[in-house]
This record gives sequence, structure tokens and C-alpha cells, in this order.
Amino acid sequence: MLSVEEALAKVLNAVNVLPAQETPILDALGQVLSEDVRAEIDVPPADNSAMDGYAVRSAEIVKASTVSPVVLKVIDTVQAGSISKQTVTTGTAVRIMTGAPVPAGADTVIPFEETDEHDRGTRPESIGIRVALPPGVNIRKAGEDILNGTVVLKAGQVVHPAEVGVLASLGKATVKVYRRPIIAVLSTGNELAQVGKTTAPGQIFNSNSYSIAALVKQYGGIPKLLGIAQDVEQSMTDKIHEGLSSDLLITSGGVSMGDYDVVKDILAREGNLNFWRIRMKPGKPVAFGLIKGVPHLGLPGNPVAAMVTFELFVRPAMLKMLGYTSFEKPGVEAVVEEKVENPDGRRFFARVVVTRRAGKYFANLTGLQGSGVLTSMSRANGLLIVPEDTAILHPGDTAKVMILNWEGLL
Ligand code: AMP
Ligand code: MG
Repeated sequence: MLSVEEALAKVLNAVNVLPAQETPILDALGQVLSEDVRAEIDVPPADNSAMDGYAVRSAEIVKASTVSPVVLKVIDTVQAGSISKQTVTTGTAVRIMTGAPVPAGADTVIPFEETDEHDRGTRPESIGIRVALPPGVNIRKAGEDILNGTVVLKAGQVVHPAEVGVLASLGKATVKVYRRPIIAVLSTGNELAQVGKTTAPGQIFNSNSYSIAALVKQYGGIPKLLGIAQDVEQSMTDKIHEGLSSDLLITSGGVSMGDYDVVKDILAREGNLNFWRIRMKPGKPVAFGLIKGVPHLGLPGNPVAAMVTFELFVRPAMLKMLGYTSFEKPGVEAVVEEKVENPDGRRFFARVVVTRRAGKYFANLTGLQGSGVLTSMSRANGLLIVPEDTAILHPGDTAKVMILNWEGLL
């Protein structure tokens, strides 16, 4: 049996970062830059006011105070988006709004609150300055955010909301990022009925296509739902061929030892099969191979096993295709609050509810751990990792928990 790490290394070895694509900045959220982004302008482009107030010459107001304000003639008002044609000369000031370029001659901005504007009424002809401010105060210098010619974002960086904003502040509508993987999702099984339809006797609804496609979306991929293949070689072969225009094909079911588990046979015939029994629970049987160069991961059919093996093997593969260089799922050390048994020497990913109390994390099982009990996955916010050589965790022991959902934990 392979260890989780050995299986993961083989999967990662078979996938590569995808080609880069010029992408609208908002769509690039969560994607990785394939090249440095260099500024072609200063941001801000000109010295501008950080306050609503009066642009003045600082040398003229050195004696200004509340008791003896320095009175200046107001020669213009300038708002953000406009440029004053006036030059601030001796004895004058320009009324200025936040974001408006500072007029020629002025070197400091006195906020309204530091003037007697209130006593003079709206748009006064002259203004009393009540405070002395040195040059540069309340002025945002041209290029103080970004200097023209500098590298603002580096290749390999992930585009987060702030990066989207920075790109926009540079006037860029698109950016070059590694493209998102298109991931074909195929469920197998004669027992499966399509959601929205009714089930015949003996049928269950196909949930795996949806949980898997949701995971694909969550991690930045584009799911392509191929629907349901019957447990017959022809049906499955046709569907699998449909998946070969994608970057990765995920199937669920049909990889166990049952009479109708034909996914392995097809992989063996159409491509090269690596059938793995992985030393983990849930999710022991996983098929992996390449069909005409397209990696195919055959996940187990049990809904929980399918999701857990996705987290362990598909997510890192997707992240690699997206250009990420770190694939580890973040987790915490938690105190286990009840006994957890792991008798069969595999790595057990137990569904747990993690809580945080007084800065410490605690983990409790979600109840029934059967790998068909999908609601236990929905109740869980983490997977407690019980090592292969740990047969039992006692209350009070600590163990690592892979966090599935951080809501309420930070
Ligand atoms: P298999 O690996 O095909 O033997 O499937 C294992 C178990 O998972 C069986 O009980 C299946 O009915 C169930 N199962 C397989 N595929 C799905 C699916 N797409 N949605 C829900 N349950 C499934
Ligand atoms: Mg099946």
C-alpha cells in the first residue's frame, strides 16, 4: 500500500503548471501572476490634497494662530478631477478638495477645521488661517504609492483583492496569469439518478458530481460536468473520452473490487493504470493514470471518501496547475476531547468539529464515521489526522487537524 505522501508525489509529478493567459483583472482573483507587473505611471500621478481645505504657501503662515489668524485672498476653488489654472502667490490661497491636484505655488494644505471658514460662510472671498503647518503637510506626493518604472507585483504572486485594486490603480484592465484548470467530473454507477429527476427503485441521487464540482470551484478550477456513466465499459469509455479535452479528469466510483467496477479496466486499456491502495481511511482505493496525456484520478464512490481524497490529491494537483508552489492545506494542533480509535494501521482522517476556546483548539468527532455519511462532512469543519501508527487517541491528546472551513475559528 502507498503512503499518502507517495501517492501525492506521483500525482504532482504528472501535472504541470498550465499556460499563462491575459485575463481580465477581476477574473484573475486567486490566480497566480506569470510575469512581473511594472508600473508605467506614477500613482498618484500628481501631488494632491489629502484633505478638504486651503492650499497655501507655508512660508506665509508661520505666525498663524487661533488668536491672530493669517488672512489670505481666496483665488480659486478646485475639486478632485480638475486642475486649478491659478498659481498661489503671496497673500493668496486656493480652496481645495481631497484628491484635487495641488495648485502651483502652494506647498501645504490647511484643513477647513484649522481656518475661520465657518464664521465667514460658504465660499468666502478671503480666509483666516489659524495654524502654521510646514511644507508638505496634507499633500500626497506624486508616486508615493507607486513609482513609474518599478516592479509592483512579482511573478508567482497570488492575485488577492488588493492586487486587483493595485492593477486597476495602474490602469490595467487585464493581467497575465496561469490559466484555470478545466476539470471534467464524471460519476459512475447504475444506481445513480440525476438531481431534479425522480429515483427508480434501488437508485440514489448522484451527489458526488456536485460535491466534487463544488470543490473544483472552491479551489479555482472550472468544473465540466460529464454527468453519469453506467457501469458498462462502453458507456464509461464514451464519457471518459469526453473528458479528454480537459486538463484533468476526475471520476468517482467503480474503483473497488466489485463485479462492476470497470474504471480500472478502462484506464488500463485506454491509458496507463496505476491502481493504488492508499494507506488511508476513508479512501483506500484510488485509480490514477494518464489517458492520452490527460491525468485521470479515479476517486472512490463513497461520498465522504470522494471528498477526502479530493482534498488530499486533487486540490494539490489543481494548485500546481494554477502556478501555486505551496500545496499544504492549513491546519491547527487540537486537543482531542474524546477517544478516537484507529485499529487498522492506516492514516485516519476523522471528521471533527473544531472549536476554539481561550486561544486553544479542541476537536470532537461529528458522530458516525461511515464513509457514506455525507452529512458528517457537512457538520465537520476539519479532518483530524490520526497517524498510521497511532491506534488510539485519548481525550487530552493533541493531534493535527486539517481545517476545511475556518468560519468562527480565527
Ligand atoms: P463504488 O465505489 O462505485 O462501489 O461506490 C461506493 C458507494 O458509493 C456505493 O454505495 C455507491 O452507491 C456510492 N456512490 C457512488 N457514486 C456515487 C455518487 N456519484 N453519488 C452518491 N453516491 C455514490
Ligand atoms: Mg459503483
